[in-house]
Amino acid sequence: MSTRHEVTLIPGDGIGPSITDATVRLLEAAGAPLTWDRQIAGMTAVKELGDPLPEATLDSIKRTRLALKGPLETPVGKGFRSINVALRKEFDLFANLRPAKTVLTGGRFDNVDLVIVRENTEGLYVGIENYVKVGADPHAVAQSVAVVSRTGAERVIRYAFEYAVKHGRKRVTVVHKANILKYSQGLFLETGRAVAAEYAGRVESDDKIVDACAMELVMRPERFDMIVTTNLFGDILSDLTSGLVGGLGLTPGANIGYETGIFEAVHGTAPDIAGKGVANPTAVMLAACQLLVHIEHDALATRIRTAIEATLRERKTVTRDIGGTAGTDEYTDAVIARLK
Ligand code: NAD
Repeated sequence: MSTRHEVTLIPGDGIGPSITDATVRLLEAAGAPLTWDRQIAGMTAVKELGDPLPEATLDSIKRTRLALKGPLETPVGKGFRSINVALRKEFDLFANLRPAKTVLTGGRFDNVDLVIVRENTEGLYVGIENYVKVGADPHAVAQSVAVVSRTGAERVIRYAFEYAVKHGRKRVTVVHKANILKYSQGLFLETGRAVAAEYAGRVESDDKIVDACAMELVMRPERFDMIVTTNLFGDILSDLTSGLVGGLGLTPGANIGYETGIFEAVHGTAPDIAGKGVANPTAVMLAACQLLVHIEHDALATRIRTAIEATLRERKTVTRDIGGTAGTDEYTDAVIARLK
């Protein structure tokens, strides 16, 4: 319990610095064994160094293999690469882990507790696209290629099953569209069934076609435990499940590779409220809990999460986006006061 972990802290843009400061304050109050290497990225880094993803930031993550990241504004314009895509590629972050758990009861669903594992590097997001010219129209037809490899599918599906074993999850559902996309989705499903067979007796498994899965998620989300799926389906379904439990403001996400984990809120920089002291820091706080679980400090993560959930459920000192009047600091103080 005494080893300290160094974590690259990227405060980010917009509301990023205030919600990451709040999170660091909470972690310190809880006695988390973390030290911070502060680095910049996004617009903050463009303004200071002319590069949205400076080498120093990449070098820090290479060393620490752990990062807690505030939202980043990707500069619009030629010559700037998407920071999130660049990080995924650089560190081969093949699994995107998105939990969705009901915290604020009395909403549409009170018993959601599921985890989506989205393949993060392949599928339709590999960027192999082209136009076909027909007659005088250079953009007459557009084509996008979906790439699924057995290795890519297997590592993310195995990650989901291993996660289930480690965290006592009962069932993994492989979500696909193999009835239509027989090659790419077929390979994902075939690989899913092969990996599932290895875990028979330890983790239950089934498979569902993505459209049927989407309908069932909005009708009976409590029936799902874990979902593993390809990049595009995971992107869409994980925002859908965030919506089932109160929106993006409460949702964390982790990007995991064999060596590196980058943890963040799912929401963006919220430019409309930046600098006003009213942002909700919950998503980054929950991302920090994911980081603690990743480094096997599960008990500490549960302690912090319990304080967050209790504060939210009481609804006395919560931020405006969820119907309260508290500012970021006041809410953070209330969570800290609830740490046991
Ligand atoms: P957004 O998530 O920043 O904001 C959408 C709405 O939600 C806004 O009304 C905002 O005020 C509110 N909101 C978001 N987070 C909140 C919080 N913690 N507390 C209270 N209210 C919150 O989405 P957007 O406006 O589409 O994007 C703004 C910028 O963020 C863009 O530059 C985009 O590229 C970037 N972005 C970054 C990431 C990331 O770094 N992971 C993710 C999404 C968007």
